[in-house]
Amino acid sequence: MRYIIANWKMNPQSMGEAETATRQIAEGIEDLKEVEVVVCPPFPFLQSLTPFTKANLSLGAQNAFWEGEGAFTGEVSPLLLKNLGCEYVILGHSERKKYLGETSEMTGKKLVAAAKSQLRVILCSENSEELAEILKGVDKQVGSSLIAVYEPSFAISSSGKSNAESPARAREQIDSMRKLLEETFGAAIPVLYGGSVDATNIKGFLDEAGADGALVGHASLDPAEFCSLVKEASLR
Ligand code: PEP
Repeated sequence: MRYIIANWKMNPQSMGEAETATRQIAEGIEDLKEVEVVVCPPFPFLQSLTPFTKANLSLGAQNAFWEGEGAFTGEVSPLLLKNLGCEYVILGHSERKKYLGETSEMTGKKLVAAAKSQLRVILCSENSEELAEILKGVDKQVGSSLIAVYEPSFAISSSGKSNAESPARAREQIDSMRKLLEETFGAAIPVLYGGSVDATNIKGFLDEAGADGALVGHASLDPAEFCSLVKEASLR
C-alpha cells in the first residue's frame, strides 16, 4: 500500500472551493488501487468534506492537541477529530516548529494522545535523530498507528518554488528512519517522503528513494496535478 497525503495548509479560503477540489480528487482517483489518499484541509472544512470519503480517500487534520478536553483555548483534541470522521492527523510538521515553537517533546505527547484516540499519525521529522527524540518514552503499541515522513525543511516549497531533495540522499535518510522504527517498534512502519513532490518527480522518490508514499503540499492544491501524481504512485 502507498500513501499520498495532501497537506493543504491554510488553503483554500472558502468551503465551496474545498468541496469542489475534494470532489475532483475523489473522481480522479476512483479506479486507482493500492493507494490511500488522505486530504488534510484546514479544520473548519473537515466536517463538510466527510461525504467525499470512500475506500481510497480519507480525511486528516493538520494538527491536534495532547490533552483530551478542557480549558485549552484554540486547541483541538484528537477525539474531537475522530468523532468528526477524521482518520489521520499530521503531527510535527516543520512549519509548526518554525512558526509556533513546537518541540519534539510536544510532538511526542501529541503522538501518544492521537494514537489513544485511534487516529493514524503522519509523523514528520527532519532526520532519524529528531525522530528518536520524538519517540523517546513512547509505548510500543503506538507503532501500529504510525506513518513516518522524512520531511527535510529545506525541501519544502514556498511560493511554488521547488527545492526537492535528491532521491539518492532521501534514500539514506529514509533507510535510517526505517531502521530506527523497526528497532523501536519491532515492526515495519511506512516511511514517506515530503518536500516539493509533484507529478514529475514522485516516481524517483518511490522507486529510487524507496518511500512508501509522499506528503504533498503545493502540488496538492491543483486537483488535476494531484490526481496525476496519485496515478504515478498507484501500484498498477
Ligand atoms: C509540506 O509542507 O507538507 C510539503 C510537503 O510541502 P511542499 O510539497 O509544498 O514542499
